[in-house]
Amino acid sequence: LSDNLARAQGYIAHFAKTGVCNHIAGQSVAAQSGETFETLSPVDLAPLAQVAKGGAADIDAAVAAAKAAFPSWSKTPGSERRRILIQVAEAIEANAERIAFTECLDTGQALRFMSKAALRGAANFRFFADKAPSAEDGLSLRNANQMNVTSRRPIGPVGVITPWNTPFMLSTWKIAPALAAGCTVVHKPAEFSPMTAKLLVEIAEEAGLPKGVLNLVNGFGEDAGKRLTEHPDIKAIAFVGESRTGSMIMRQGADTLKRVHFELGGKNPVIVFEDADLDRAADAASFMIYSLNGERCTSSSRLLVHHNIYEAFTARVAKVAQGLKVGHPLDPQTVVGPLIHPEHEAKVLAYFDRARIEGATIAAGGQKLGETGCYIAPTLFTDVRNDMAIAQEEIFGPVLSAIPFHDDAEALALANDVPYGLAAYLWTRDLDRAMQMTDALEAGMIWVNSENVRHLPAPFGGVKASGIGRDGGDWSFDFYMETVNVSFPR
Ligand code: NAD
Repeated sequence: LSDNLARAQGYIAHFAKTGVCNHIAGQSVAAQSGETFETLSPVDLAPLAQVAKGGAADIDAAVAAAKAAFPSWSKTPGSERRRILIQVAEAIEANAERIAFTECLDTGQALRFMSKAALRGAANFRFFADKAPSAEDGLSLRNANQMNVTSRRPIGPVGVITPWNTPFMLSTWKIAPALAAGCTVVHKPAEFSPMTAKLLVEIAEEAGLPKGVLNLVNGFGEDAGKRLTEHPDIKAIAFVGESRTGSMIMRQGADTLKRVHFELGGKNPVIVFEDADLDRAADAASFMIYSLNGERCTSSSRLLVHHNIYEAFTARVAKVAQGLKVGHPLDPQTVVGPLIHPEHEAKVLAYFDRARIEGATIAAGGQKLGETGCYIAPTLFTDVRNDMAIAQEEIFGPVLSAIPFHDDAEALALANDVPYGLAAYLWTRDLDRAMQMTDALEAGMIWVNSENVRHLPAPFGGVKASGIGRDGGDWSFDFYMETVNVSFPR
């Protein structure tokens, strides 16, 4: 740990000196107002750096830069965009340790997961880079009288607004396809974890991304974020964050008829039947809620278990939760680090009180750990009813609510009885049951006998309050591009 800490301090030393600036048209710049805000380390609440507090004027400057860079970038041949974006991927790989260590300090998420997340950022760039040469391809459709030819064009400068959980990886998941499609970008990262967004734009430009193609404005949602969503020159907003923020963005973008893509909250069920491989199911259910501090949109935060195995299975998960190493995010042994920020910690702790009042049993955890930093114990609630707040609301921490069911119909009803519909996990060896359940589950992504294993060409996104639109594969390009049809007589 001490060696990692020293390296991490070295990586962020320049931020302590210069602050985390905005990045507009290739220049590192302070907010026009001169204002800053502090980013804290959730490890000990010590300030890590001052961050530029961008507002409407900074967004306007960044949008002007993205608009100026658009004609050239959108006309750059796809093969050339591919070459540049592969260089960005290579540069991310070369800087993976710096990114991962910085992210650990800024977010509290454990190094064992953040090192993979940095590399996944590179994989996102590689994947979409390879698709850049064919991004504009379309179809030819003909009938007796006409030949129709479709093609795609990049939509224009776009806004990308991201949350504080795994911020580097999530930003690349949005920014890489936008750039590959030929769009230019203004990125507004989350105020709780701004550091690696600055690393991304610097690394990308050093690797050859032309200035002004990717711009960064830090600041608060109600100020910088709002202006970005209202700006007439921004043609689309890709947003990842809470469902209620998505509603606000839709309202804010209404006057300019903004195209929106939303990846929002979740309250994802993991459903365990008696006939499942219970060893694998217990491992996966624990991993999907306690890894990444449970601050993960696809975390399986509701455990639905057949009543015959409910006691034994929940006892097993409780044992896993109690055995997890909670500690400093840079300790290689740590599985659960501190939550992102005292405000978020207070929200999670309030659910512990709520669970007690509503009559749930605390089978593991249920309390804050230590005197300093946002550490809480990995928690399992049993005797939960689906109408309790802990079963309905997204807690976004290492907190699992276990509910028994008696038959398939009840499992399905419980699984669907939430406002969200991002992911669902199903554990059974019965193929007929799996087909029937997956047909009726209200979720955008369903994993059968697996934890969340991502395949970048597959669609990613949610239904109900969990989102609008899909990312991944060609779905991303559909969002960042316009399809145009040209018709000829024949
Ligand atoms: P948040 O909605 O509070 O903030 C996300 C971003 O939106 C931040 O950059 C914030 O500054 C900005 N924002 C806030 N108000 C705004 C406004 N009025 N206009 C424009 N921008 C505004 O979310 P968070 O707390 O940072 O992140 C956690 C949430 O993100 C959880 O709900 C989680 O489920 C969700 N999430 C979803 C996915 C997914 O793929 N579905 C992935 C990761 C996180």
